[in-house]
Amino acid sequence: ANKMFHTSPSVIDLGNCQIGGKDLIVMAGPCAIESKEQLFASADSVKAGGATVLRGGAYKPRTSPYSFQGLEEQGLLYMLEAKKRTGLSIVCEVTSIHAVNAAVNYVDILQVGARNMQNFELLKAVGKTNLPVLLKRGLCATIDEWLNAAEYIMSEGNQNVILCERGIRTYETATRNTLDISAIPVIKSKSHLPIIVDPSHASGKKPYIPALSKAAIAAGADGLMIEVHPNPKEALSDGPQSLNPEEFKNLMNELKAIAEAC
Ligand code: PEP
Ligand code: MN
Repeated sequence: ANKMFHTSPSVIDLGNCQIGGKDLIVMAGPCAIESKEQLFASADSVKAGGATVLRGGAYKPRTSPYSFQGLEEQGLLYMLEAKKRTGLSIVCEVTSIHAVNAAVNYVDILQVGARNMQNFELLKAVGKTNLPVLLKRGLCATIDEWLNAAEYIMSEGNQNVILCERGIRTYETATRNTLDISAIPVIKSKSHLPIIVDPSHASGKKPYIPALSKAAIAAGADGLMIEVHPNPKEALSDGPQSLNPEEFKNLMNELKAIAEAC
């Protein structure tokens, strides 16, 4: 992952877009895939807003075992249908080796979530696939620990790692996590890997998403991951941090000006 071994920035080709190139990539969609109807409505709205990657969780790492755990493989199938319908690339989190084995048959990007950033067996398993891996920063991980997690994936032969800063745990409680904006220039100085920012999980509160998104772009992020739900009040997970389609469209229009200026 160190720049010493790869002096130009890594560009990851997804077919319909490239991450790490000149375009700002927006991955958007619901926290969890809840039904075919909910996913299709989300996919249509994020496509209309200008996203190029659809996100959606099929295996949900919930804090409580009594919370909605995801549709698992049925959810992956709906994602593939949403891809065929919209042309968007798709990204899903994998929480186990079993989920990796299922997801490789459906998705364009495998996501390793914050809670699994140091699940070394999982990192090695995604490193053995030939799919790009979106590696979220652990809740309490230093940047060096995060880059070492990327090394676990890359040392298995898979060089296509995308880093995602999603906020870290600090003493501050006004937001769900604290977005570490400095992670962007620090990663850019140390590594050739692309980095995107998830303002939804960083803030936990939708009113803060526009400002954090703009700050991320201005600081040099290669993209964003934003939670969008057709009806956030009814969402089975992360409703308070999910934009509705109208809010997403407005944000995307505001971001265009910043992306062009950067
Ligand atoms: C998610 O993207 O749905 C998610 C659970 O994020 P994180 O791993 O950053 O908490
Ligand atoms: Mn979520």
